[in-house]
Amino acid sequence: MAELLFPKQGRKKKQRKHMKSIIQEKDGRCYLCMKLHADYSVKYTEEHHVYFGCGQRAVSEANGFKAYLCLEHHEHFGGPEAVHRNRETCLIIQQDVQRRFEKTHTREEFMALIGRSYL
Ligand SMILES: [Zn+2]
Ligand SMILES: [Zn+2]
Repeated sequence: MAELLFPKQGRKKKQRKHMKSIIQEKDGRCYLCMKLHADYSVKYTEEHHVYFGCGQRAVSEANGFKAYLCLEHHEHFGGPEAVHRNRETCLIIQQDVQRRFEKTHTREEFMALIGRSYL
């Protein structure tokens, strides 16, 4: 069944490991705006690698452990809920991604990728 998800993928297409987020559509909405403030408006968003420690950025990229966040919710210069300066909002997404991953994988598989559990 999995091949139905990617009908356009030619067999010789370069196998680049750029996965879409496993927790949201890339539709210009911010994950935290939606989750924390029920704000579904479309705005400028950036890609955030949910686990960004040593070596985890590449793992996040390859597995779609990503979220799309507005500037306010992303980098250091963002607002108080920006994930790069707020451990709580950072953890919210890390847990959501892990929960989503574990719907189709085991805890052991997650640990093998990220090295720890956030749940
Ligand atoms: Zn936001
Ligand atoms: Zn980020």
